[in-house]
Amino acid sequence: MNTPDDGRDPETPQYTHFRYGEAPEPAPAPAAVLAVPHPAALRPRGIIITCTACGAGRDWLLIQVGDLVFVRCRCAHEWQEHDLDAGEVDGARNPDGPEREWDSFEQLYAGLGFDGLFRMTYLG
Ligand SMILES: [Zn+2]
Repeated sequence: MNTPDDGRDPETPQYTHFRYGEAPEPAPAPAAVLAVPHPAALRPRGIIITCTACGAGRDWLLIQVGDLVFVRCRCAHEWQEHDLDAGEVDGARNPDGPEREWDSFEQLYAGLGFDGLFRMTYLG
């Protein structure tokens, strides 16, 4: 008698439980990460956001992870910005702009110029 790899008793039939009329739930999507360049200054509460590491006052990368919003500077300093919400990141998107998917944060940062190479530089 062959025993399946997962240790089940092969004599026990397997049942899949679907209630009549219900479709099986699709697997939940992984948390999407949205990264949106934001060349202009940010003033979420009327006070301009500046980078505590290099003093930059604009040209950010907004990174949304679930409900959390992070701001990343050209100098590669990154922090969670509690005064920004996901709606603001979404609003900063260019709906007609190209969207790219990146395999890693490192590629994303380097590809968008937020890996520290452009420290003290405004590109936008
Ligand atoms: Zn900075």
